[in-house]
Parts: sequence; structure tokens; C-alpha cells
Amino acid sequence: MVQPSVKRDSVRHHPASGALDEWPEWVRQQDLTEADLPYLHKLLADGFADWLEEAEGFPWLSERRIVLLHPDHTRVAASAGDADAPAPADWSTELLGGTAASLAFSSCRPAHLRGVEHDSPSMRAYDSYAVPIFSRTTGFVIAALACLLPADTPLGGELKLLQAAALHYRSSLYRRFERLFVGDLIRSNRLTGREERRRNLLFDVMSRLHDHIDVEHVLAEAFDSLERLFPLCRPDLYLSQDYSSTNENVKPLAFHQQGMDLCWRAFMDGERREETDGGRRIMAFPLAGKQGVYGVLRLDVEEEAFDDVDVRFVEMLTGAAGTAFEKARLHEQANVLIGELRLINELTQRLNSSLRLSDTMQFANAELLHLFKADHCFILQLDPMKGHFTVMSSNLPALNKEVFATDYGFCGVMLSTKEPIILSDYRSATPISSHLMEVTQSRSLLASPLLLNGEVIGAVMVTHQQASHFSYDNYKLLQVLSAHLGLAVSNASLHAEVRRMVITDNLTGLFARHYLNERIQRKQERDVSGSLIVVDIDHFKKINDTYGHQVGDAILMQVSTIIRAAIRESDIAARWGGEELAIYLPQLSLDQTLRVAERIRNRVEAETAPKVTVSCGVSEWTSSDDRVSVESLFYRADMALYEAKHRGRNCVAIG
Ligand code: GH3
Ligand code: MG
Ligand code: MG
Repeated sequence: MVQPSVKRDSVRHHPASGALDEWPEWVRQQDLTEADLPYLHKLLADGFADWLEEAEGFPWLSERRIVLLHPDHTRVAASAGDADAPAPADWSTELLGGTAASLAFSSCRPAHLRGVEHDSPSMRAYDSYAVPIFSRTTGFVIAALACLLPADTPLGGELKLLQAAALHYRSSLYRRFERLFVGDLIRSNRLTGREERRRNLLFDVMSRLHDHIDVEHVLAEAFDSLERLFPLCRPDLYLSQDYSSTNENVKPLAFHQQGMDLCWRAFMDGERREETDGGRRIMAFPLAGKQGVYGVLRLDVEEEAFDDVDVRFVEMLTGAAGTAFEKARLHEQANVLIGELRLINELTQRLNSSLRLSDTMQFANAELLHLFKADHCFILQLDPMKGHFTVMSSNLPALNKEVFATDYGFCGVMLSTKEPIILSDYRSATPISSHLMEVTQSRSLLASPLLLNGEVIGAVMVTHQQASHFSYDNYKLLQVLSAHLGLAVSNASLHAEVRRMVITDNLTGLFARHYLNERIQRKQERDVSGSLIVVDIDHFKKINDTYGHQVGDAILMQVSTIIRAAIRESDIAARWGGEELAIYLPQLSLDQTLRVAERIRNRVEAETAPKVTVSCGVSEWTSSDDRVSVESLFYRADMALYEAKHRGRNCVAIG
């Protein structure tokens, strides 16, 4: 009987071939399974052909016909071997019965049967040899190598040689297997790896894109990523007119521009568009967020250099850039809104803290210059009585207080339309001439009327030397702001009017007593001297009694007019009481004051009708006095007046 000369385990543990070492460990773990058996014929045959090629010239092989058998007992392949060797091609499933091959399959061991031991009479002329071949890790029989030799061939190392051939064959077989199956796996694994690296990159780009909250950085990041990934892709970004950028790769998406059809189509439907042109692939990817399409990325690449995976990748990148762009835009808009609210808030606060018109205007002017990055800002107030606009505030001092007729320039236009104006270039075809634009050499203009209850009360203008400096957003913002500014200007004007009324005497138009007091007090804090004249109409009671109160009032007004005409602008004339008037003359010597008082007295006597006279009491103070006070000054003037009356009236006395 057959003595198995090679243990099955020793085959199973045969070291892997050199080719296997090149592959990673997990590849070496791969193996055929029993489920593969029905599909194994081709692989077995290819492995056999490889083996024959490698073993060519081996004398043992050329003297024999070696047959490769599948475990289903079919013949897979055979070596050409010696032409005289028994014809293994005749072997059939039936013939195998009772041969070494069938024994090798059933026992899973190498087998050798002498001629006489064969079941089939036709086989008895041969000795048969067979060696099973095991899968490398799972250890089941995947094939057998067999050969026939004439019966009674002297027993030599035949079986051992066949075993060595089987091992050699198995390594050829597995090389095939690895190339065929595992190689496929590796290829797809490599593809997955590439995809994964790209995804990682995309993730990286996305997170960096979303780190940026300003539009310029988002755009720069997107370009940077594209250029790193596809150095030859020549990206151009076209942004719709609403957005501008300082990035040199960013251009405006203009209507009817030559060669821009592709971009326009991508922009309009928010879908990727592409065309080929002489071996180049031109693609337009929309830069879109959730709320709309903002622009188009145009790539011009060599056709072969860009596959569909690349396209998908750029699509994902522009998707991420679009979302980041939208986020940054929203952030910017929110900042603008915050800035707007802050300005409105501050304006209102300023209004409450200081009702001085000049302060309010000055503040608004500075804020508007900053907000719109403008070169110049003008706030003008309308004086409907005088029929002109006056520059109330400007960052160009030379233009302050400049007046313009109500039908002149942009203010004139706004007075009739009550609408704001945005002008991108003053130099190109504007029928309106504007002194402010000429003097400042401005080209861009934003202007808005200041309205109160629907009526124009003023105008605000911001200008820039460059054309198209202001955006539509600026225009809308100025419109909002001018409503608040109108209110502020009107409140400040009203306040100024109320203040004027509070400090002015109604009948005479001179200052009121309390204002004179305040002013003297303030002067005494700063000046070194000053003097006071108290003027009292003589026998005024008699005037009233004779001509009536109205004439009395008229006389009071005449005397006041004479006083106003007789004094300097820096002197302060007030109605002190009933028919007593007072004049404070800062830094004037007593002699000079006496001359003023005398002048008044003379003119009253000469110019009033019905004629009245006045008596004057004069007093002065200097910083060297023991006690400097308003009360003391008045007291002494009053005493002097009393003295003048006592002397017979129509004269001036010193206190
Ligand atoms: P004297 O020369 O001493 O100053 O005599 P007088 O009559 O001017 O003095 P007196 O103080 O007795 O009278 C002041 C008068 O001035 C009393 C009041 O009728 C009159 N008077 C005061 N205020 C006004 C005013 O606003 N209008 C008119 N018409 N008269 C006034
Ligand atoms: Mg009096
Ligand atoms: Mg009097």
C-alpha cells in the first residue's frame, strides 16, 4: 500500500513566495476558499502555464507528462513532456478511479500505486503518482499533480520529485492568485486611499474656510486650496455685481461679455456647466450658498489632466466655499447693521446729551466719513425764509457756512424730488453742476435729503474722488441714517430756537435779565475788568399816562435800538426790569464806559419820539476789588442811577 512520504502540514506551512513579501501582511492572509473551487479551472491552468515556463529545461519535467487535476477529477492541464510518455490526456473521471490521483484526493496525501494495484485493467501497464496541492492558509485540497510511468519503473525519488514540483507549482499558482484577486483588491484599495486623502483634504479646506468670517479670507482660502490641489488649473472667480473683492483672481461677472456664456448659464441655473475646446476642458462651477448664487468659478484645464473624481472634488470645494462665502457675507451684513444701529444709537445719545446743533453735526460728519470711507461729508441746512442751503458742517473748513440757492446743484434736485441720490461718476454725463463736487474734485456721490414730517429741512452729501466708490448698500444705509439725522438737526434747531427765546426779551429783543447775570458771572471768572451801565427812562410813568402803554412800549423799543447801535458786538445789552435797561461792557475802562453812556443819553434825547430822556448809573469792577460779584456791580450802578435821578435826571452818574 501507499506510504505517504510528505505530511500534509509540511505543505501547508511552506513559506510564502518572494512576490508575497512585497505586499502587506493582510494580503498574505488572503486565500482561496472552497466556494472558489467551481471557478478555479482557469486560475489553475494559468498557474500551470507559468510554472511550466519557469521550470523549462528541467530534465525530469521534459521526460514526463505531468497532469494537473481539479478536485472534481477533471484534467485541467498537462505538460507536453516526453512524446512517448503515457498519454494523460486519456485520463477521464472514470479512469482516475483506483489510481494514485483518486487516492491522493480522498486521503489528502501523496500517493503511489504500482501497475498491479490499479482497479482499471488498462492502467495496469503503469505506475501512477499523485501529490495533492493545498490552499496556503486554509489547508484544503485545491488540485493535484499526477504522472504515469511504465509499470515496474525502478522505485526512486519519483514521488519526492513530484512533491517538489507541486510546491513549485503552488507558488506559481499563488502568484497568479495574488495578481488576479489580491491585485484587484489593492488597486481598489489604492483608489479608496486616494479618495480618502482627498476627503481629508476637503474636510481640512472646509474647516479652514469656515474659520474665516470675512469674505476676502474665504476667497483667498478657496484659491489657495485650488492651486495647491490643481496647480495647473488656472482658476478665475467671477462674482456678481453686488460683491467686489481685492483678490486679483476675482473679476466681475458682466452681462454680454464675450466668452462668458458658460459662466452665465452656470450662474443662472446654479448648475455646473462645461465645454471642450481644442483639447481643453472649460468648466464653470457656481459659487452658491443656501440663499442664492454669488458667482462662478471657471476652470480651464487640459482634458486628460482632469477626471470625474476631480470634477466632483472641485464641486464639493466650490459648494463649501459658497456656503462659507454666504456665511461671511451674512456676518459682514450683520456687522454693517450693528454699525448702523450703533451709529443711530450714538447719534440719539449725542442728541440727548448735547442739544448744540454744531456738536451734533460735527459728530454726524465724522461718523459718516468713517462709515462710508468717504473723502468728504457735508451737512446742509435749508433756510426757507432766506431761500438757501447753508453748509453747517464739513470736513473742509473753507466750505463751512457756504450758501447755495435752493434751485442749485444736488440739494436743489433733492428739494424738489425729496429722494436720495447715488452717482457713480460726476464726470461722466451728469446734467447737474455742483460746486461741492468741483471744489473737492469728487467723482462719486451719495446724497440724501433730511426730511422732517415729509418736508426737506436740509441735506447730507458724502463724496469720494474715485468713481463708483459707493455701493447700493451704502445708499440704503444713508437713507436710513438721514431720517435720524433730519430729526437730530430739527431737534437741535428747535432747541437753539427755544434757547434763544429763553434768553431774549420779547418786547425789546435785548437779552433777558437772567442771561445777563449768567454772562457777567462767567466773565468775572475769566476777565480782569468790566463795567456796567444801567439805563432808566425818565418819568416814564408820565409817558404811559400821557400817550398810553403802546406808545410807552414803542419808546422802550426805540431806546433799545439806540442802545444796540451804540455798543460793540462783544457788549451785552439786556432788559433789566420794567423800563430799566442794562449794558455790560467787558474789559472796558470807566472813562470809555462813561463815553458810551453819554452817547446813549445824547442819542435818546435826540432820536426818540415822543421825546424821552434817560438817566444812567455806571459801575465797574476789576480783579483787584475786595469782592467781585454781579450783585455788587448792580448795587453800585443802581446807587449811581439814584444819584443821577437825584441830580435832576438826563445825566450819567458813577457808582
Ligand atoms: P423816574 O424818572 O423816577 O424813573 O420816573 P418813572 O415814572 O420812570 O419811574 P417809576 O418807577 O415810578 O415808573 C416806572 C413806570 O414804567 C411804571 C410802569 O408803568 C412803566 N413800565 C414798566 N414797564 C413797562 C412796559 O413794559 N411798558 C410800558 N409801556 N410801561 C412800563
Ligand atoms: Mg424805573
Ligand atoms: Mg424811570
